[in-house]
Amino acid sequence: MQDLLLTGGHVVDVGGGHVGRYDVAVRGGRIAAVAPGLAPHEAREVVDVTGHLVTPGLVDLHTHVHPGATYWGVHPDPVAWHSGVTTWVDAGSAGAWGIDALRTAVSSYRVRVPALLNISGLGLTGRTGESTDLAHVDVDAARDAVARHPDFVVGVKVRIDRETVGANGLRPLERALAVGPPVMVHVAAGPPGPEDVLPLLRPGDILTHCASGTAAVGAGPVVREAYARGVLFDVGHGAGGFAFDVLEEQLAAGLAPHTVSTDLHTRCRYGPVFDLPTTMAKLRAVGVPLHDVVEAATAAPAAALRLPGGVGTLAVGAPADVAVFAVDEGPFPVVDANGQVRRAPERLRCVATYVAGRLLPPSLPEPPPPWVPLTEAQRAALDRRDKALRDLLGQPLVGPEGLTEQFPRTRNEG
Ligand SMILES: [Zn+2]
Repeated sequence: MQDLLLTGGHVVDVGGGHVGRYDVAVRGGRIAAVAPGLAPHEAREVVDVTGHLVTPGLVDLHTHVHPGATYWGVHPDPVAWHSGVTTWVDAGSAGAWGIDALRTAVSSYRVRVPALLNISGLGLTGRTGESTDLAHVDVDAARDAVARHPDFVVGVKVRIDRETVGANGLRPLERALAVGPPVMVHVAAGPPGPEDVLPLLRPGDILTHCASGTAAVGAGPVVREAYARGVLFDVGHGAGGFAFDVLEEQLAAGLAPHTVSTDLHTRCRYGPVFDLPTTMAKLRAVGVPLHDVVEAATAAPAAALRLPGGVGTLAVGAPADVAVFAVDEGPFPVVDANGQVRRAPERLRCVATYVAGRLLPPSLPEPPPPWVPLTEAQRAALDRRDKALRDLLGQPLVGPEGLTEQFPRTRNEG
């Protein structure tokens, strides 16, 4: 007997090797079968997803969790249920000084959170500047943190830009590389810039914000050489790390990103990023095929970090992390971090997110922290949403006619 059977969906599971119309069966929190025509009477719950896209739960390679302890952090659960993202790779919220507390925090989340350890012990408690003092960029402490958390820390994160490293140039990167692969490097306004960073990276290291206009990554010889050598290119959209014209230049040069991620944090979740399906639509808007976009948000990021157990796939025995999307035909306008607009041919609207075979229920996000600079339009939209929620949730669910007497009174026959 299966616990759950999703029938009739269009499956795109690149890592598990199933693309087409398949049923997906779940038992004991794991994928039990992916095949056409599985018997519905052999499942406790059957959900007809005909006409929908079914993918492995999305893997977002670059996010920031742990709100309340960091400048950038977002609680993942109130976003996960409506975006299909079941694995949130935290990209450097914590370094050696804070990794134990991060681990404790994520153990209460419904989604999976592997972590990239920030090479700075400070992590992302502050807005920037965490590697301006090399006393915090301690290789031995970072190695010790990795060794303490072998099933949680899956790589190292370092931010290399003018504000983050100050006068220390590439030394934080050199120290990150000394701790161990894979290293994810963020680039922004230099120096040091991408032309300084890329020659140091090894095959399997990750350049995030790969299509950044702020960092002016482009598609020049240094960029092409790194790509050819096996450096992985990750979108890492964020509030300033993604420009359509840069991505178009890279695509024209054959440098398609390996992974698509959001860099979701408290200053981009209200726009321009919103969530991973919206970011995926931006790749569709510049011509990346849907199959490749799904791979870049599932199997590719899982492989980049060697996430264990089949995460990012629907392989039999993998955790039953599954996303179901309605595919709305567009075109829909989408915008990058610099106000450039393109049109996406369709939009993926998540209708169900399962983690280990369990449907994530809707949950509401906390209000933005006071240091987030929102535009008037963003504030007005948040106010409208709050009012709509009050109106919706403040009403009784049903009237008297929708109720029964749950505990019938016994008549006293006296
Ligand atoms: Zn980030």
